Amino acid sequence: MKQVYFDNNATTKVDKTVLEAMLPYLEENYGNPSSMYHLAKASSDALTKSREKIAKFLGAKNPNKEIIFTSCATESANMAIRGILKESKGKKHLITTRVEHPCVLNLHKELEKEGYKVTYINVDTDGSLDINELRSSIQEDTALVSVMWANNETGTLFDVKEIAKIVKEINPQTKFFTDAVQAAGKVKIDVSNSDIDMLSVSGHKFHAPKGVGVLYVKAGTIISPLIIGGHQERAKRAGTENVPYIVGIASAAELADKYLEEENTRVKYLRDKLEQGILKNVFNAKLNSTNKNRVPNTTNIGFQYIEGELILLHLDELGIYASSGSACTSGSLEPSHVLRAMGVPFTSLHGSIRFSLSRYNTEEEVDYVIENMPKIIDKLAKISPFQKELEELRQKHQEQCVRNSVG
Ligand code: PLP
Repeated sequence: MKQVYFDNNATTKVDKTVLEAMLPYLEENYGNPSSMYHLAKASSDALTKSREKIAKFLGAKNPNKEIIFTSCATESANMAIRGILKESKGKKHLITTRVEHPCVLNLHKELEKEGYKVTYINVDTDGSLDINELRSSIQEDTALVSVMWANNETGTLFDVKEIAKIVKEINPQTKFFTDAVQAAGKVKIDVSNSDIDMLSVSGHKFHAPKGVGVLYVKAGTIISPLIIGGHQERAKRAGTENVPYIVGIASAAELADKYLEEENTRVKYLRDKLEQGILKNVFNAKLNSTNKNRVPNTTNIGFQYIEGELILLHLDELGIYASSGSACTSGSLEPSHVLRAMGVPFTSLHGSIRFSLSRYNTEEEVDYVIENMPKIIDKLAKISPFQKELEELRQKHQEQCVRNSVG
């Protein structure tokens, strides 16, 4: 069966170059990087080189002091947030947004139970952050502000460098963390000369394997470790380093820089073609984020009055893989917290699909989805309880098509 993988914000295929870079560290160079003998030297050298490559990828100045390898971005976020709070004694206030990934949002909910006060900043209908609300929320005892670089469900980009600057202008003691998981490989990440104190990325979102992440911590920013044990990662993250996977994420970072332009030209062209094709050919389709400021690979489209899970099942039967929200929440019947925060009406909320592309996708795949989407929606529309509403949408769409062809 033909397979079209349009769920690259959930995870990505490991690049062959990445796999080849990793293999020697699974086979011959398996030494523990903390050991003293020759076999281990290859591992510790690989660790050093990988740290340098990741630092270059992120624009970090000091690989040895600023780059910490973790098991995933969820761990990186937990480490950043809890690590700062432990070092900010007496400060009980945090700020984040309503549209963060669960690894940040649910941690804040947990922190509220532990006695912290959290301000959740709202977004508007196109997903943009209310900067004035953020500005006025910063207090004397605000320990940390966490704002993601790019949203995983809509692709909306936040100007985190500008936000970090605002935070520091109002309270220079407040730290700033950004979850850059969905930005890595899609837009240039550069922490140099910025007010960003901490930043997380995850290998499996840019063609490295699952199970390896990074936390950047600006030199001079002190965080407590989350995992206590040996002295690995300058005693900030205990546990023997996963050398093959670290080599993998470093290799993927080099490739991400190499393919950045393609992401923003060819992949963006494919995403735009898919988006326009669906909006033109599917009578009840509505774009959930019209924000121009988006990563180049993501679109989130609402199919009004149709159940998203049913759409996904029909796509799956045709070998088309997409998602109805973040992979971490799919399977739950709760509508997306991101779309709810944007005020997406209930008519689209349950029928929203995220398509996320990568450099492995082709125009032929886009055409295949554009061809099949109207058939799936027509089929599901027939069994929808909202016949009257769907008929109205169909008529409106036809009228629009006529106007477009005349105009
Ligand atoms: N942050 C964002 C924006 C994500 O999209 C994801 C994964 O979907 C994560 C964090 C968590 O990454 P990991 O799977 O490495 O824990």
